[in-house]
Amino acid sequence: MIAVLKQGTTPEQRDSLCEWFRNIGLEVHISEGKFHTILGLIGDTSRVDIGLLESLSIIESVKRISEPFKNANRKFHAEDSVIDIGGVLIGGGNFQIIAGPCSVESRDQIIGVAKRVKESGATLLRGGAFKPRTSPYDFQGLHADGIELLLEAKKETGLPIVSEITNANDLELFRDVDVIQVGARNMQNFDMLKQLGRTNKVILLKRGLANTLKELLMSAEYIMAGGNERVILCERGIRTFETYTRNTLDLSAVPMLRELTHLPIVVDPSHATGISRLVETMAAAAAAAGADGLMIEVHNDPEHALCDGAQSLTPDQFDRLAVKVRRVREAILK
Ligand code: PEP
Ligand code: MN
Repeated sequence: MIAVLKQGTTPEQRDSLCEWFRNIGLEVHISEGKFHTILGLIGDTSRVDIGLLESLSIIESVKRISEPFKNANRKFHAEDSVIDIGGVLIGGGNFQIIAGPCSVESRDQIIGVAKRVKESGATLLRGGAFKPRTSPYDFQGLHADGIELLLEAKKETGLPIVSEITNANDLELFRDVDVIQVGARNMQNFDMLKQLGRTNKVILLKRGLANTLKELLMSAEYIMAGGNERVILCERGIRTFETYTRNTLDLSAVPMLRELTHLPIVVDPSHATGISRLVETMAAAAAAAGADGLMIEVHNDPEHALCDGAQSLTPDQFDRLAVKVRRVREAILK
């Protein structure tokens, strides 16, 4: 349920109403907008007498929220959330590109790629240290050493780093990682989501291979319900009957999520297509659709990459992509 307060409501009036809600067992989420304050009420709201509430002098309107996601809901928080990642802002008109290899392979590789993508305009560096591979015989990542190398690359370039967690027991290793990625395969690992909800880390939550947008938002809700509101959503393609591309990029997810939630929305055309020559086009399309950011796999030598080489761009190809995306952004902002 949301209660919109009238303009001119004093902080004392607002606080005493919040206190009343809390006394009847509700959690209150306060969103201070430019014109209105919205109180989002979570819990058993059946005990709230809407008629009585509407009759209060400070209440503009009261509405029940039918969606099961509350914290992530735009009705609770009308303005876009802007997330600060070590000084890099995303959301609310701030657009960022996350780039880097699928997996961290060596010091030279990650530092070399980090420098190149930074020159091209990437503002966050990605690199997997724990890789959820379909085959147990494939490269599984450098684990703690991979995180160490990412931190070295961060020191060299100043780029905040993004890396995937596959097991909540590894959380301590991510102490200095700026953004923890929850991969598609773990989108509904609810225990892990709950643990991440108790941290103060920015979480990049990727859509599961066969999950609806509602399920994605409910997974975000798991994190937010624990008190961590810094969640970024990522559309990375879903499983359909099409087989020419690795997945099917659901670009309508961007405007749909934009309506449903205030959280920033990133698109990953690398995993969505699985084919490097399609990545630039779909990155441009994602920017045109209004995404808040992109995640792009870039490798110094894609042919010999230990993971996801077929979809990885060379630094030169990434440079061209970044130029094109900037042009699209300029065109849609006009
Ligand atoms: C990745 O980002 O390298 C990755 C494994 O992505 P996804 O979880 O979307 O497959
Ligand atoms: Mn990958």
